[in-house]
Order: sequence, then C-alpha cells, then structure tokens
Amino acid sequence: MTDIRDTVILGSGCAGLTAAIYTARAGLKPLVLEGHEPGGQLSITTLVENFPGWPDGIQGPELIENMKKQAERFVAAFQLAHLRSVDMGTRPIKLHTSSGEIHARTLIVASGASARWLGIPSEQALIGHGVSSCATCDGSFFRGLEIAVVGGGDSAMEEALFLTRFASKVTLLHRREQFRASKIMLERAIAHPNIELRTNTTVEEVLGVEEKDVRGVRLKDWKTGVESELAIKGLFLGIGHEPNTKMFAGAMDLDEDGYIKTTGNVLTTHNGQVIPGVFACGDVQDRRYRQAITAAGCGCMAALEVEKFLEEHGH
Ligand code: NAP
Repeated sequence: MTDIRDTVILGSGCAGLTAAIYTARAGLKPLVLEGHEPGGQLSITTLVENFPGWPDGIQGPELIENMKKQAERFVAAFQLAHLRSVDMGTRPIKLHTSSGEIHARTLIVASGASARWLGIPSEQALIGHGVSSCATCDGSFFRGLEIAVVGGGDSAMEEALFLTRFASKVTLLHRREQFRASKIMLERAIAHPNIELRTNTTVEEVLGVEEKDVRGVRLKDWKTGVESELAIKGLFLGIGHEPNTKMFAGAMDLDEDGYIKTTGNVLTTHNGQVIPGVFACGDVQDRRYRQAITAAGCGCMAALEVEKFLEEHGH
C-alpha cells in the first residue's frame, strides 16, 4: 500500500517553494516534485532588484536556494520526478510520475512556464550551437562576440543588458514598433552604448545549420519589406514563456494559451466545477503579473487553502 501524502507540490520555483515553506511549517511534510527546470525561472536569472527585503537586490539562484533551505528546515522533501499524468477525480489523488505512483490528499500545481521558441527549423536545429533561451546560462560563451536578442518585453531587455557583460555588441530584434517592456528597462537598453534596437524586424532564418554553428540571421524589415543578413555568433530568445500544463489538458480548465484557469485565486476547475483538493499557483495560472513576489504570494494562498481543505476533511 502506497503512503498517502497530505500534500504534493508540483514545481520548485518561487510559488512551489513558498507553498512548501507554509505547508511544511504547518506540519504537513510536503513532497515537492522538481521537474526539468528545478528552481524555476529565478534559478536562471541574475540580479533580482524588486523582491522586497533585499535593498541591494539578490541573485535569483541564491533567492531560490534560500527558499529551499527554509522549506527543508521545516521538513519538506524534494524529489526529481516528471509528472506524466494525474487522476484528480479519485481519492486519494494519484500522480503517475517518472519515479512511480504517488498518492496525495491534496495537490498544489506550481509547474510554472518554460521559455518560448520562434519555432523555425533553423532555430531548432541550432539550439545549443549558438541559439539559446538562457542568457545567464550561456552568455559567457560569447565573450567579445556579436550577438542578437529577440523580443520586446522585460525578459528581452534584461537578457540584452546582461549579455553586454560578455558580447561586444548586442542587437535587439523586435517584431513591432511598440515595446511591452517596462519604461525603466527599455530606457536602460536604449541608453546602453553596446545595444542597438531594431524594430519591425523578424528573424526569418538562423544561418549556420550546415556548420552546426550560428554565423548570422536572415532578417525581414516589415515596414520596408527588405530582407537583410546580420552576422552574429549567438541568438538569444527572450520572447516569453509557455505554461507547463500539457499533462492537465482535458482534466483541468485551461485558457486558450494553456494557462490554468483558477477561481478564488488558487482553486482549479474542470468543466467549471471546482476540483476538490487541487490548487494552482504562480506563473502556471498567472499571465498578467508573473513576478517572483506575486508567485510567492500565490504559493502562500495555495498552502493556506490546503491546510483549510485538510482540516475540513478531518485530516
Ligand atoms: P512578454 O512581456 O510577454 O514579452 C514577450 C515579447 O516577445 C513581446 O515583445 C512579444 O512581441 C515577443 N514575442 C512573442 N512571441 C514572439 C515570436 N514568435 N516572434 C517574435 N517575437 C515574439 O514576456 P517577458 O518579457 O518574458 O515578460 C513576462 C513578464 O515577466 C512581464 O510581466 C515582465 O514584466 C516580467 N519580467 C520582469 C522582469 C524584471 O522586472 N526585471 C524581467 C523579466 C520579466 P509582441 O510585443 O509583438 O507581442
């Protein structure tokens, strides 16, 4: 007979770890399943300047490590496992993972969102050979070289600014005239002498597939229709994220982009009916704010709902 966990938390980013701290401190001995990106997006970011309590900022990976230690202090367990499918209509909830079946009274889904790609064949062929979605992971490979970043949001600005530490020049390619980035980030990018912004520009092809090494990009200017080539050694994608919810398709209400639709902040639904004991928090259900602090706050809410649910069901 498999043990029944009071709560299992899917995801070890900011939302999942905050839920782990709260449920662990409440004595629920949570099991945190870490998937393909342990630590979530904070673990691949650099300086976080807007997380309250850190007047000089804190490195993303350090913030995540601190949260993990804090959860472990109150007895949270961590396991590397990929969730394949889940039976949420049964009691207990049954999770089918790469490390076997896990039974739980409650489930907190905090599986976050993963980097988005352009999806063109040449880009896909060159991932790891000059094409990357993680500036902090791969930036140092491009010391003294010219590179480009795609995107017009805060992620693209952050990546471009970070990459100036290594690259001799960063060209920021954005498909529209208007930017989604916050004013402060955009202004920093514009003011940087080693960043050039090109708007109304799309990447049509990444060059270097035969050599298995990026040597440039073929671009299209949508205002003039003119195509051109830009010689670069690296291409970084900063075009947003996709929620990690494929395993819930058909079993949970998702919106048109795959984000979990929640009601009452963190309650999940199927065909409009609340799924008992299954809660969602963080980027997997938030397409609007997507900040470390909002994910943490949401993780706290999910944990408190778990406590309430277990109490109401006599556990
Ligand atoms: P985002 O705001 O959704 O921006 C994505 C950008 O990529 C948009 O400019 C979009 O273009 C472009 N894009 C999307 N798909 C594309 C495609 N197929 N080809 C070309 N361009 C494409 O995403 P984000 O920058 O990751 O930011 C997400 C959230 O995290 C935001 O709330 C942001 O404020 C926050 N964030 C904050 C910080 C910070 O404060 N330091 C850092 C990173 C992220 P369009 O504009 O044309 O749609």
